Amino acid sequence: MKAVIYARFSSDLQREESIEAQVRACSDYISNKKWVLSDTYIDRAMSARSDQRPEFQRMIADAKQRKFDFIVIHKLDRFSRDRYDHAFYKRELKLAGVRLISVLENLDDSPESVVLESVLEGFSEYYSRNLGREVMKGLKENALQCKHTGGVPPLGYDVGADGKYIINDREAVAVRYIFEAYLSGDGYDSIARWLSTNGIRGKRGSVIAKNSLHDILCNEKYTGTFVYNRSTAKDAAGRRNGHSNKSNDEIIRIEGGIPAIITKEIYNKAMDKMQKNKSGTHRAKEPYLLSGILFCGKCDSAMVGSSRGNPRTPTETTKKYYQCNRKGRTRECDCQAVNRDVIEGVVLTHLEKIADSKTINDISAWVSENVKLYKKTSADKLKEIKKELSAVSRDVEKLLDKIIDGLDSEAARQRLAGLEARKLHLEVQVTDLQVFTETTTGANKAEIKKYLSQLKKIKSLSREQQAAVIKQFVSRIEYYPPDGDGGDPVRSCKITTRLDSLLAGCEDRERHTPAFLSFLTSSCSVSMSFV
Ligand SMILES: [Zn+2]
Repeated sequence: MKAVIYARFSSDLQREESIEAQVRACSDYISNKKWVLSDTYIDRAMSARSDQRPEFQRMIADAKQRKFDFIVIHKLDRFSRDRYDHAFYKRELKLAGVRLISVLENLDDSPESVVLESVLEGFSEYYSRNLGREVMKGLKENALQCKHTGGVPPLGYDVGADGKYIINDREAVAVRYIFEAYLSGDGYDSIARWLSTNGIRGKRGSVIAKNSLHDILCNEKYTGTFVYNRSTAKDAAGRRNGHSNKSNDEIIRIEGGIPAIITKEIYNKAMDKMQKNKSGTHRAKEPYLLSGILFCGKCDSAMVGSSRGNPRTPTETTKKYYQCNRKGRTRECDCQAVNRDVIEGVVLTHLEKIADSKTINDISAWVSENVKLYKKTSADKLKEIKKELSAVSRDVEKLLDKIIDGLDSEAARQRLAGLEARKLHLEVQVTDLQVFTETTTGANKAEIKKYLSQLKKIKSLSREQQAAVIKQFVSRIEYYPPDGDGGDPVRSCKITTRLDSLLAGCEDRERHTPAFLSFLTSSCSVSMSFV
C-alpha cells in the first residue's frame, strides 16, 4: 500500500501545528500501518478555503492516476474547509480508489461500514456494469432493425430514408480496393497515395487519410454484419475509459443485418494479416493475472510478469514467470521466480473453492440484510447529522457577525476554530453516508449472489475476465519460495481476499450458519502450499 502526506500551513490562524509537526505525525502513522510513503505535498501560507493550492492540485492529479492508495493528513481542516470542495474532492478520490485518512479524526466510526465497504466496493462496480447489460437488452430491439445509430456512416454506406444502411456504389469501390491492395501487400502509404491520385475521396469529399485505413480494414460492417455498442463502457462518473474494452457479451452483432461490400473471407484474411504484422513488432499481449497484487514473501517487493525465450516469436517453450522486482533490478533478493501458470492456478483454485453454492447463498443473505439495516440507520443518522450541522452553521454565522461588529478576543477566535472543525467533521460524515447510499443501490440478495457466483465459474472465464474478477476479490498475495539451504523445500503463498474483513466484522458468530462461518474462515488469509 502506498501513501502520501498532505500538509498545509496557513496564514489565517495564529496557532497551528507547524509543517514539520504535521509531517512527523503523518509519517509515524504511515510507518505504523507499514505503508510506503511515496510523496509529500506541502502548501505553505495557503488557505484551505480555496482549492487553488498548487500542491493540493498536483496531489489530486496524481490521485486520479492512482499513484497511491491513501492520503494521510494531520487534521481534516488541512484538506479543505469549503463544504463543496470537500465533498467534490472526496468523491473524486473515492472514484480514483484513494482514501483520505486523518491522523487525529477517525473517519470510519462504524465497523459495519468497513466490513460492508469491502464487499460493496467490488459489487458497485459489478452492478453498474451489469445494469448496462440490462439496458442493452432493451436497446437490442432497436438495434435488431439494424438502423444507423448516429454520426457519420462509414465509407461505402449512406443512410436511407428508413434509417437503414444502403451501399454508396462509388465509395464501395474504394472500400474494395483498400482490402484488395492491403491483401496483395501494399502498405498504408501507397494505398493512400493511389486513392488520392485516382481522385477517390471519402465522405463529404475529404481525402482518405493513411491513418483511417486501419479503421476501415477493421470494420466488420463491410461483411454485412451489423455491430453495435463496440465502444467502451463508462465508469461511475460517466467518463469513458479508453483502456478497457467491452466484453463480447455486451456487443450486439447481427449477421446479414446490412448489405455487404466485401466477403467474410476477405475480411478474415485482412484480420489475420494485421494480427501477424502486429505480433512481429509488438509483444503478444497476454495479461498477467496477478500483476499489482503479488508480492515477494522475502523482501515485500512487487513481483512482476516476465517471459523467458524470445517474446517476438512466442512458442510453446516461451516460459512465463513472475519475478521479484528487487531481484530483477538490484539482485538484492534471492527469491526464485515462479511459473505464471502454476501460481495463477493455485489462486484460481482457491477462489473457486471458497464459493460453493451453499455459502454463496448464506453470504448474500447476510450482506443484503446488513445493507438494509445499515441503510436504515444511515438515513436516521443522516437526518441527525444534518440537524446538528445546520445548528453549528448558525452558530458560526452568529459568531462571525459578532466579530465583524468588533468583538475580537482570543476566546472568540478559539470558539470559532472549534465550531468550524466540528462543522467540517459533520460535513465529512454527510458525504460519507451519501456516498454509501449511492454505492449500495441494488445491493439485494439476488444481485449479490450473482456477483459472488462469478467466483464459482472463474476457471471457465476468459483471461481478461479472470483478471477482472481477481481484481475485485483478491487484495494481496505473498509468494514464499522454497528455502534453498536445506530448509523447507515446499513453496507456498498467502492469499488475502477482500472478504477477509467480513470475518473481522462478524462478531456475533452465533447468528451464522456453519456453512457461512466456514466460508469466512476459508476466505480469510489462507496459506497454500504447492510443489
Ligand atoms: Zn524479493
